[in-house]
Amino acid sequence: MSGSPTLAEFVIAVDGPGGVGKTTVSRAVAEALGCRHLDTGAFYRAATVLAMLHHLDLSNEAAVMGVIAGTGIEYDDGRIFVEGIDMSKAIRTSAVTARVSRLSTLPGVRMLLVRRQREWLAGRGHRAVVEGRDIGTVVFPQAPLKVFLMARPEVRAFRRAGQQAIPVSAARQRLARRDHLDSTRNTSPLVAADDAIVIDTSDIDFRSVVEEILQLAAERGIRPSAPA
Ligand code: C5P
Repeated sequence: MSGSPTLAEFVIAVDGPGGVGKTTVSRAVAEALGCRHLDTGAFYRAATVLAMLHHLDLSNEAAVMGVIAGTGIEYDDGRIFVEGIDMSKAIRTSAVTARVSRLSTLPGVRMLLVRRQREWLAGRGHRAVVEGRDIGTVVFPQAPLKVFLMARPEVRAFRRAGQQAIPVSAARQRLARRDHLDSTRNTSPLVAADDAIVIDTSDIDFRSVVEEILQLAAERGIRPSAPA
């Protein structure tokens, strides 16, 4: 999928695998800058819920695309709505987490969801912190600041185990499975953009990561918006 001409001069792209702190960091950066935060994973999760509700086989790309194309999916302030119904909890179940990376390998599905993510930004004054796997490489390749967060596998597994109240070994296995699907797919694999700044969050607290990103943003002229 090629990059788009979408205006994105105030986008901060935050990419990386699960368990590296993308959501916590992105939200805090957005709050400090007085702009919106978009979690693009929520779109892939909502599409997975839709496919499950319609009992679709995830290898049937045309059917999955048909359902997504005909359904309203809206994201606002950390919540995701499918045909106006708040699905924020439903997208976080383990059944969805187990399937979402499979659905995310489908190029046509990605095309539809990337389009919606770009429309979301256009509707927010082109100013946001956007987190995902392909933001700096595909969704907003012209973003002036791209950050790629990473952490050692055992640290990521420990964080996930704490969030989901599951054993660390199970968390590590699940993350490894998703990493594999996300980084080996043909379309938009999980990879740091050439011009991304890679930050290892293993041994630093989230506040320091946020400070570092705000500093990088200021160097690129991205500053807090003036109070209304
Ligand atoms: O970030 P989160 O864990 O909610 O993402 C769920 C899954 O959605 C990821 O494992 C990945 O397969 C997919 N995803 C993606 N591209 C994005 C965001 C998420 O492929 N930009």
